[in-house]
Amino acid sequence: MYLILVGAPGAGKGTQATVVKEKMGLPHVATGDLFREAQRQGTELGLLAKSYMEKGQLVPDEVTVKMVMERLSAPDCARGCLLDGFPRTLEQARALEQALKGQGKSVAAALYIKVSEGELLRRLSGRWICRQCQAPYHLVSAPPKVKGKCDQCGGELYQRADDTIETARKRLEVYFNQTMPLIDYYRQAGRLKEIDGEHSVEAVGKELLAVLASLEGGKRVRK
Ligand code: AMP
Repeated sequence: MYLILVGAPGAGKGTQATVVKEKMGLPHVATGDLFREAQRQGTELGLLAKSYMEKGQLVPDEVTVKMVMERLSAPDCARGCLLDGFPRTLEQARALEQALKGQGKSVAAALYIKVSEGELLRRLSGRWICRQCQAPYHLVSAPPKVKGKCDQCGGELYQRADDTIETARKRLEVYFNQTMPLIDYYRQAGRLKEIDGEHSVEAVGKELLAVLASLEGGKRVRK
């Protein structure tokens, strides 16, 4: 089953991805994480991505699609995966559809975590992340027990370079201009599942699980 997690930066995609992964047993393919890993390794792709990410802009479609297609061709993605942060443009969505279609597959659902702009800005500008396990924290709403340390693995917490208030604003602008059209794209295809992302992490997770259960039920009926 191929699932897509859609939502603005700060909507809680990374946090909720864990819920989906555990429930569905799917590999998690997060394009932002892939780009950050390429940067850590100092590859050509990493250097190129850095120049866009620092400004809060999207990495060009051609480069992003190529990276994702390579990842999807790995054996662990043969029976599906959870795509997080991809597609982010209509062009990417079409490229994904084409690639899956060529293998007789399709996207089962786009899980859209909906959060208002004001709440997104508040969340993004206080976000800190564990360098080791990527667990997210928030200075006000979800602070770590010990300042600067991850509760789960003790790793060092850091603020992503693109989580400063100026870059956060830019990333949201990019999201509303370039990624929002995807919502209509998947709605028209009858594959959009809307989840209210303004509630607590637990409540959003619960709603997401209910949607996943309905998808699995649908799959059984179709068999
Ligand atoms: P994220 O971790 O998903 O918030 O992504 C961080 C940054 O990586 C974004 O602001 C973009 O610069 C880049 N990025 C991630 N996914 C994509 C994508 N699907 N298309 C283009 N750029 C992306």
